[in-house]
Amino acid sequence: MEFLAAKCPSCGADIQVPGNKDFAFCTFCGSNVKVRESVIMKSDVDTDNLIALGNVELQARDYNEAMEYFTRVLEVDGKNPKAWLGRGHATIRKANSQLKLFEEAMVYFTNALDNSPETEQEALTNIIIAEYTPKKFMSGHIEFLDRLIKIKPEKVFLLQVISLLDVIEADMSKSGNKLSPERQTIKTDALALLKENHPVDYNRYLRSIEKKEKHLEERDANYEASALKRQEQELFSGKRLLGDIFTVSLLNVIVTGIIILIFDSFGISASEGFGRALTIFLVLSAFTNFAVYLNKRRQLKAFKNEMAFRKNPFKNMVQ
Ligand SMILES: [Zn+2]
Repeated sequence: MEFLAAKCPSCGADIQVPGNKDFAFCTFCGSNVKVRESVIMKSDVDTDNLIALGNVELQARDYNEAMEYFTRVLEVDGKNPKAWLGRGHATIRKANSQLKLFEEAMVYFTNALDNSPETEQEALTNIIIAEYTPKKFMSGHIEFLDRLIKIKPEKVFLLQVISLLDVIEADMSKSGNKLSPERQTIKTDALALLKENHPVDYNRYLRSIEKKEKHLEERDANYEASALKRQEQELFSGKRLLGDIFTVSLLNVIVTGIIILIFDSFGISASEGFGRALTIFLVLSAFTNFAVYLNKRRQLKAFKNEMAFRKNPFKNMVQ
């Protein structure tokens, strides 16, 4: 067991106290002595004064200097909550968005909380949360934000973590991916906390999501309609139809010629000359142009089906 040099607060005698105990007896006056308090008295370091100096440096924004004062207190009194709090302040206030400093400050703040009496916990928590509130968080801070909202479900943290995750989720869904299970859990928790603690903001969030989805649906519908129209125009435009009729007619002239040759070779002569050729050509044209038209309708329908499939590949699946 380690014994520490101490001074009895009652009689002022130099005593030795066990470092691993909270209380000890003074061997001179017999009074019950608080170990921590008696060691600080002996150290002739005025910790209150050092903390006051540290706080002045915090005010002056000289965070490295402040850090030194608080560290000197902790060298004598490793559990001093004000010194831990001071170190936390000095660290977070010099941090811009560096996760490392956010984390480091949190270690100091946690030490301050752990060494503070129950009655001061809530006020201290609010002080700590206030230090993180104005910070700008980015996607690399999501897990840290999750820790903060578990300490206190502050609205600004909840909204930030949800919107950061929404952006990531939207990005990933473009490539057919999803949030990791861990991050999905963070989002679910954050939404539950928002609903429970800030219902107005929760409903506002839901409405904004609905609006966004409706907007996307409309955009998709518009895109579909215009794609369909383009396809229809391409298949049925006057220019295209004339071109088709020309091609078909050209083929039909040839086929008519072949048919007449066959008729003649078999000696079939229902009628002669130009009238016969014209009749055969017109009958052929009626059939072939109708066949071409039907084929275009079929193409358009196939295009529609393909678009519907692309929109929802599982629509026609049977479970
Ligand atoms: Zn004593």
